[in-house]
Amino acid sequence: MKTSGQPFRWRRVLRPAVRWLVLVAAVALAWPLRQESFTSVLLPAVSPFVAVASAISVRAVGVLALLAVPVVVLVLVFHRWFCRYGCPVGLLQELVARLRPNAGKPWRKWPSLGHWLLLLTLGGALLGYPLFLWLDPLALFNGFLNAWRRPLALVTLLTGLGLPALLLLELAVPRLWCRRVCPLGAAQDLLAGPRRWWWAKSRAKVTEPAPGAKAKPGRRRVLAALAGAAGALTIKSARGATPPPLRPPGSLDEPRFTGVCVRCGNCAQVCPSKIIQPDLGASGAAGLLTPQLRFGDDYCREDCHRCNEVCPSGAIARLALPDKRRHVIGLAMVDLDRCLLVQGRECTACIQKCPYQAIAMRSTDGGFSNEPCVVPDRCNGCGACEAACPTRPVRAMRVRPQAASRVVQNA
Ligand code: SF4
Ligand code: SF4
Repeated sequence: MKTSGQPFRWRRVLRPAVRWLVLVAAVALAWPLRQESFTSVLLPAVSPFVAVASAISVRAVGVLALLAVPVVVLVLVFHRWFCRYGCPVGLLQELVARLRPNAGKPWRKWPSLGHWLLLLTLGGALLGYPLFLWLDPLALFNGFLNAWRRPLALVTLLTGLGLPALLLLELAVPRLWCRRVCPLGAAQDLLAGPRRWWWAKSRAKVTEPAPGAKAKPGRRRVLAALAGAAGALTIKSARGATPPPLRPPGSLDEPRFTGVCVRCGNCAQVCPSKIIQPDLGASGAAGLLTPQLRFGDDYCREDCHRCNEVCPSGAIARLALPDKRRHVIGLAMVDLDRCLLVQGRECTACIQKCPYQAIAMRSTDGGFSNEPCVVPDRCNGCGACEAACPTRPVRAMRVRPQAASRVVQNA
């Protein structure tokens, strides 16, 4: 088929059509109209960067990691096909780059930062802390859309700044992110490396290799991975000394959580109680924008395990509802100096509200007074008592973080 004497190139039509379709599908998946929809987990889960680095960190291959397998297989055969057809961030960047059609490409002579980010992340993952997993472009895309959740607040909008930052970088230096910085692009280079090397060798002619195609000295790769492992060790030991905030049920232990969480915002988006909020530095710089629990007027409901179903990186484990009910978030503690019951006032709000019957009434003063006391074997730290406690500005009943190794008996 010919038009104006030129051969018709299907790829010129097919590629933009596929890319626009992918962008529309990605927005629909990541920004579901119904809160009960769990499709937002799908997009970051197809990233081989997230799947491999989180599997190494968590030491387990979750069922979601299987979503990345078709991408890996296709990348092994068609190098960077995901960049060309499947990445919604890549299309957005191309659109932004058109605003500066005559901009130069100073990055052509720059080294590929993405390859080092990838190696540092994989090295860190070996010690359970994938340093730059949060730079995954699909997670940044999800984070942007999830930031527009209700109730709209400045603090939640902050969690979506990653994607606008990438687009601003694109405006400043077109194609820099995709060609030199993106760790997902670098992961594709790494996966396709052996096949491209074999192809080039069999043809015995290589003109100018694409970024990442050059065989990097193995020693430098090992050194980068070792540097990643050392960085992971340093951050993990520093995190061990910082008091952790409350995390959603099923979260990894604190030293690993902030590394494995990709800040996609899925857990906060689906929480019906709106108690999952971004951490704005309470747990240090490494925990910035990770999800933490804040019990205001609501608590972690006993009939809910939504956040356990939408985490693409395994930072929050997939737990069935009975397991989630037994999982320890923290431990409620009562400040008797603030408790209204101890002051002789009529209040049993915490005892009545606890869904696990984990707060008992204890007689004191030879039976003349009462005070609430928490039964640690039953309390999983759901926060119902804290949300119900009427004392202000500080609640008498508060949940404190605790190691998840404690076992509770709730059915
Ligand atoms: S399990 Fe708790 S924290 Fe998680 S989504 Fe449900 S109510 Fe929110
Ligand atoms: S913990 Fe929440 S924000 Fe972090 S990766 Fe999992 S779903 Fe996304």
